[in-house]
Amino acid sequence: MIRVGVAGAAGRMGVAVCSAVDGAEGMELTARADPVLGVELASVLGDCDVVVDFTQPDVALGNALACLAAGVHVVIGTTGFDVAALEGVGGANVFVAPNFAIGAVLMMRFAAQAAAHMAAAEIIELHHDAKLDAPSGTASRTAELMAAASGRGAPVIHSVRLPGLVAHQEVILGDIGQTLTIRHDSMTRESFMPGVLLAVRRVAALERSPLVGLEHLLFSD
Ligand code: NAP
Repeated sequence: MIRVGVAGAAGRMGVAVCSAVDGAEGMELTARADPVLGVELASVLGDCDVVVDFTQPDVALGNALACLAAGVHVVIGTTGFDVAALEGVGGANVFVAPNFAIGAVLMMRFAAQAAAHMAAAEIIELHHDAKLDAPSGTASRTAELMAAASGRGAPVIHSVRLPGLVAHQEVILGDIGQTLTIRHDSMTRESFMPGVLLAVRRVAALERSPLVGLEHLLFSD
């Protein structure tokens, strides 16, 4: 049994993660940390093998460092913090994904492939109006992958924040007389749960840490 704690357990993503972990085989929800619940992460680390963090950009790094210092593996979904600050920090493993939805990972992959063959591209990311960071972690990661694949600068990112949205992204590529649009939509937060559970199962055995991107757990190339 993997003992799993959730940081940000009372948040939109945290609630979905708690219920996914609760219903998953081979793992047990042992801690819910969140200021809203009056439970500090530090006080529950002894009950956890893995912590899943869906909190806020300004606390995710501190939470991860506390987990590593306690020898607890950490799976981070929070976006908008400096992952590079976790380079070289030992104690346990860190897995970070800017997007845990399989469709979004495929969108990023297809966008990078297409960027190598078309003249220009721009990204439009659309999220609910309570999202704290902009551009989204998914859009920044897509731009990074497209820049590496095309050898050009990173595409411009446009951010839309509106009620009614969850998490959506369109990559529009343009060339002479044609455009190609690659779009992904997360309609509910359940779309992220299979990816989160996969990361919880695999984080203890990672060969490098921090490891960024669900593609590393899904694809062999
Ligand atoms: P949210 O509803 O605001 O939830 C965040 C929760 O974390 C809140 O309950 C907050 O409590 C709590 N929190 C704040 N500081 C904490 C601490 N030190 N320890 C434990 N909990 C703490 O936000 P959300 O919509 O769930 O999103 C959370 C993060 O996940 C965001 O960065 C978002 O971009 C990211 N996200 C990632 C993915 C992905 O696939 N990677 C998908 C969706 C969202 P207070 O309200 O009291 O501050």
